[in-house]
Amino acid sequence: MTESRPIVIIGAGVIGLTTAVRLLESKDFDASKHAIHILADHLPNDPLDAYYASTIAGAHHLSFADDEDANQRKWDRRTFQVMLDEWKKEGEKTGLMVLKQTEYYVGTDKHLKIYEEHPDFTVLDKSTYSSSIDHSISFTSLTMTPSHYLNRLLRRIEGKVHVHRYHLSSLSRLNHPSCTALIGTSAPLAVFVCAGIGALTLGGVEDQDVYPTRGQVVKLKAPWMRSGWTRQVGSLDGGEGGERTYIIPRPDGDVIVGGTREQGDWYPYPRPETTVDILRRAREICPDMVPPYSKNGEDGPETASPLEEIVQGVLVGFRPSRVGGIRCEMGEDLYLDNEEVKVIYNYGHGGAGWQSCWGTAEDAVEMLFKALQ
Ligand SMILES: Cc1cc2nc3c(=O)[nH]c(=O)nc-3n(C[C@H](O)[C@H](O)[C@H](O)COP(=O)(O)OP(=O)(O)OC[C@H]3O[C@@H](n4cnc5c(N)ncnc54)[C@H](O)[C@@H]3O)c2cc1C
Repeated sequence: MTESRPIVIIGAGVIGLTTAVRLLESKDFDASKHAIHILADHLPNDPLDAYYASTIAGAHHLSFADDEDANQRKWDRRTFQVMLDEWKKEGEKTGLMVLKQTEYYVGTDKHLKIYEEHPDFTVLDKSTYSSSIDHSISFTSLTMTPSHYLNRLLRRIEGKVHVHRYHLSSLSRLNHPSCTALIGTSAPLAVFVCAGIGALTLGGVEDQDVYPTRGQVVKLKAPWMRSGWTRQVGSLDGGEGGERTYIIPRPDGDVIVGGTREQGDWYPYPRPETTVDILRRAREICPDMVPPYSKNGEDGPETASPLEEIVQGVLVGFRPSRVGGIRCEMGEDLYLDNEEVKVIYNYGHGGAGWQSCWGTAEDAVEMLFKALQ
């Protein structure tokens, strides 16, 4: 890389921030020549917003990668390895929690092959679970506390990457004075598009294959929960099929229970009837979540779920889904003021952005350096 021009990353979700970290840490990156600028509408400590998926997510590492999908398997596997190493080094102060994960399947006796790579993988004996379940496995996996982890990413780039709150209406507006005032030039060397659901409307991208998969989850306070549970009814279909119920404990005693996967649904607020349904399903797969001190549902009235006593909030977010899956590739060069700008896409992670972020960030950064050779 010889020219002294900045590199821009659009987006400050888990995808934009992990891309910034990998770019900064790359042996091919010369910080004396290239400033890095993140431009984003949303930043990690903002109030929760459905359009900022990274802060709404559960989140756990439970791959949806089909057995034949080599790229997704690679990205998910790599991210698990990076996060597990972080946890081994610094424990739960990373915002990561290592836990036993149990998966229940209804309507199928198959699980994804990638789970067999996890530590402690076991196919459970039928005598250990209810007859309404057709198949069950357990293994060791990870959960993430989004705000905590995003803030750690921010600290890793602090003082080295410029972070701006800025709405970019189109890639061609990177040379607008309101943008050049921030990045210092009318033509950056490269731009990484990590805009999540924003890739649908960002000019110059406007990817019509991007759509929201609405997710509603309930946050509980249940520090006695230290294991994860999921029940999949029907086909998984890349993470968007059937009915999926999950329980995601976090190191701080919060537990996220979910969920819904409503494709093309832009309603950004909680639906009360969905909350009731999520609590019912969560209690079905994990009765131990009911507070030990609860009277409700036992001696008390049957009208309310005993879990209602520990509800902290209800969250809604739009997973940035994409027909054909994640777009992690070089685009065509963009020309701004007669200068060539490299474009790298890294968006469309759907319900799998947390579990694949390091894998796609590394590929995206590598693509840039290859293109500049
Ligand atoms: C309920 C729910 C549960 C989930 N659970 C899990 C899970 O357990 N495991 C998992 O791996 N994943 C999970 N996900 C999915 C995961 O959250 C997403 O895949 C991931 O957060 C996508 O990250 P992102 O950075 O691409 O998008 P986002 O986090 O949405 O960030 C996009 C960024 O781009 C910025 N932006 C967009 N357009 C523009 C523009 N024009 N100008 C400037 N800035 C712009 C935004 O402001 C934001 O900063 C879940 C999601 C939801 C909603």
